[in-house]
Order: sequence, then structure tokens, then C-alpha cells
Amino acid sequence: MRLLHNEFMTATKTTGLYWFRHDLRLADNPSLNQLCSKVDRLICVYIKDQHEANQSQLCRASVSQLKKIFEQQSVTVLDESLRQKNQYLLCVDGPVQETLLALVERYAVTHIGAEFHPGVYEQNTLKSLKDACPQVQFTVSQEHTLFSINDLPFDLEELPETFTPFRKKVETILINPPADELLQLPSSIGVLPEVQQKLTSGPLQGGEKSAHQQLNYYLFESDLIKQYKQTRNALDDWHNSSKVSLWLANGCISVKTIYQTIKQYEAERGANESTYWLFFELLWREYFQWYLSKHQNKLFHFSGVKQVAPLTRFNQQEFTRWCEGMTKYPIVNACMRQLNQTGYMSNRGRQLVASCLVHELNLDWRYGAAYFEQQLIDYDVASNWGNWQYLAGVGADPRAHRRFDLDKQTATYDPDQTFRTKWLKSDE
Ligand SMILES: Cc1cc2nc3c(=O)[nH]c(=O)nc-3n(C[C@H](O)[C@H](O)[C@H](O)COP(=O)(O)OP(=O)(O)OC[C@H]3O[C@@H](n4cnc5c(N)ncnc54)[C@H](O)[C@@H]3O)c2cc1C
Repeated sequence: MRLLHNEFMTATKTTGLYWFRHDLRLADNPSLNQLCSKVDRLICVYIKDQHEANQSQLCRASVSQLKKIFEQQSVTVLDESLRQKNQYLLCVDGPVQETLLALVERYAVTHIGAEFHPGVYEQNTLKSLKDACPQVQFTVSQEHTLFSINDLPFDLEELPETFTPFRKKVETILINPPADELLQLPSSIGVLPEVQQKLTSGPLQGGEKSAHQQLNYYLFESDLIKQYKQTRNALDDWHNSSKVSLWLANGCISVKTIYQTIKQYEAERGANESTYWLFFELLWREYFQWYLSKHQNKLFHFSGVKQVAPLTRFNQQEFTRWCEGMTKYPIVNACMRQLNQTGYMSNRGRQLVASCLVHELNLDWRYGAAYFEQQLIDYDVASNWGNWQYLAGVGADPRAHRRFDLDKQTATYDPDQTFRTKWLKSDE
């Protein structure tokens, strides 16, 4: 039997392994808390798996350097926080299943903890691990979303096919408060190793601390949230929307924490249409998470959830021009260059470039989604593929054909050319 060979097992000790995935934080991490309440010793692990990098396998562009830096920073910050509690993060580059099974065997792991994530790849890897370790107890809780499946007032199969009926059914449901961060963690296995990861620099700062700083800045320090509804559609400028997506995507902050902070802000400084609207947008995120949970692989199908094949095709040259910001539409080019240079694009920009790819260039929407997957620092499988399907007319849009008039959009959102001039200046 495997357990005979382990190095550390004693008759009474239990050993937990916490597998950090898209939840790189200690605050509001119920799966971690629950695991810690059950074990004497703990191993914390993060695995960088190349397969996870592109769920669709369509786009051959490599993951952007900015995205990698942000991830690395988030991991390093988590390691630092764990070290303050006499723990550390074992960061491994390698295949998920083999890495975890080797750890289970080597350290006689009795319990494994992880967050529940709606991604197809994420669910499959967790299931394979469970199948391969029938002797291990699993602690998995739903912390990626505002609601857990039991909170929903309908079965998952009954999830509305569009957002508005979903919102109406859920927006008054009581949302549980975030879980407290544990003051202490179970001891680590052996002596803490030297720090391996150095904090890399980048224009943005990944990690749990920066996530809370940004949220606090957008709400309490600047009161910017008070104008959110009026500013959120702007194409540029850090101040026009919350930017919490950057940290939400790899779980440096939980969506419940954001919700609770909005509520706290409303209680202290007053609610208005804009404070509500930030919650409204979080409900869009929520909707797409459950949409993915329900439809799984259909989120990546050409015909989408609606099962209607768009009248588009694929052309490598035109697609490359779109990726590089070299189309005949300056507003689209400016947005794409903003994405390529910063790893971020506004919501309005994402809508315009997606509409252009599908409706002006007549290209297969999945390639656009796959390119976003590689470039966006805030890439989230459900929000990305759900929004792309929506714009391609094969998903949750009640209207079948949402084509943006690029001239009109340019006149509305970049009337004095500031945005285009800024991002296209290398062409001058
Ligand atoms: C084609 C396309 C692809 C997208 N891909 C992603 C993605 O990979 N990851 C991602 O987080 N968002 C994605 N979005 C949604 C949205 O553009 C971003 O969430 C938003 O721009 C992030 O900036 P912010 O945090 O400042 O947003 P804010 O406007 O401040 O909104 C606050 C939060 O609400 C949520 N939210 C806002 N709008 C949406 C939306 N349309 N759909 C789902 N959630 C929303 C996000 O969690 C966001 O962080 C995509 C939208 C489109 C049109």
C-alpha cells in the first residue's frame, strides 16, 4: 500500500493538502478554513499547468508576459502571507494530476481541500484527482460565486437562458458574509524552505493586499463608485471603472468581499444608482458562472449554447490583423493595442472589438475568445466565453444579432480622438 513509504506519517497525524487554484488568498477562503480544522499538518500547493492556459486549444498565441507577471506576483504575495503563519506555498511547474498524486503519496496526505470552480477543465481535474485518491477526504466549497448552488431558487437545469430573469430571481437573496481569515494554520511539513519566488515588477501589482487596496481606493478613498454608472462605459482611464476584475480572476479577492464592501460603503456614505450598478455588474459575472456550470463544454462550441451556427469562417491573415490592431477600423485598432500593451481593455472596448470580429470581419468568434484568453490579465473562463457567445449571437443574448455601429460608437466614446491618438501614435 502507498502509505507504507511515506516519510512523515505517525499513527495519529492527519495531513492536509490545500490546492490553490483561482483562489490565491487567505481571506474568505472557506475550503482552506474547513481543511485546516480537520488536519494536524498542512501542505499548500500551487501548480502552473500549461494545459490550463488555453481551454479551447484554438489560439496559438502564447500567454502574455503581463498576465504571467501578475500571476507570479499574486503567488509570491500568497507565499509571503503564508510564511507569516509559519507556512509556505509550494509552487510547481508541471502536470496537475502527476504532481498532486506524487505529493499525496510522499506525504501520506489524508485530506485535500480546493475551491469549487465551474470551469470544465477545473472540474475534470478535480474529479480525476478524487477518482485516483479514494482513500483521501475532500473538502471543496463554493466560494467563486456570490451564491452557492443551494442558495439558488431553482435547479441548475432551470437556470434562465438570459440574464434579466436570472437577476430578478436572485438579486434579493441574502448573501452570506465572507469567511474570516484564520489567525493560525496547521504546521508545515518539515522546515520552511528558503524563499524561491522574488517579487517581479510590472505596471500592476498582483496579490491579495493590492486587491483590497484597489477596492478601498475605488470606494472609500476616492468615492469614485458614486459616479460608476456614468463612467463605466469609457474606453480608457483607470478611474472609470473599479478594475477589480484583475484580482477577481485569480481569486486574490473574493466576490463576496467586494459585495460586502459595497454594502458597507452604502451604509456609511449612502446608496445611489451607481453603487447598485456595481452590484448589478457582479450579477452579470455571477450569471455567467452559473451559465458555464450548466452548459459546460457548449460554451466553447461554434454554435454555442443556442446551437445556431453563425455565418462566419476563419481567415488567419485577417485574424492576425485584428489581433495586432491593424484592421481598417481605428477604434478597434486602438482597443486591441491597449489590450496588447496593458493586458486590459474596457468593457465597451471588448464589445466593440468582438462585434467587429464577428460582424464586420465575419470571423469565427471562438478565435477572438481564445485570443482574449491569452492576453487578458483578468481572463475568467465563464465571463470571457459567455460574453463572446453573447456578442456572436449564439449565447445568452435575447437579441440574435448585436452589431455595434463602429462609426457611431467612435463618435460617442472617442469624440475628440484622445483615445485613438494615444494608442495609435506609433502609426504617426
Ligand atoms: C467580449 C468580452 C469578453 C470579456 N472577458 C472577460 C473576462 O475574461 N474576465 C472578466 O472578468 N470579464 C470579462 N468581460 C466583462 C467585462 O468587460 C470586465 O469584467 C470588465 O471590463 C472588467 O473591468 P472592471 O473590473 O473595471 O469592471 P467594472 O465595470 O468595475 O465591473 C465590476 C465587476 O463586475 C463584473 N462585470 C462587469 N461587466 C461584466 C460583464 N459584461 N460580464 C461579466 N462580468 C462583468 C466583473 O467582475 C467586474 O470586475 C468581458 C466582456 C466582453 C464584452
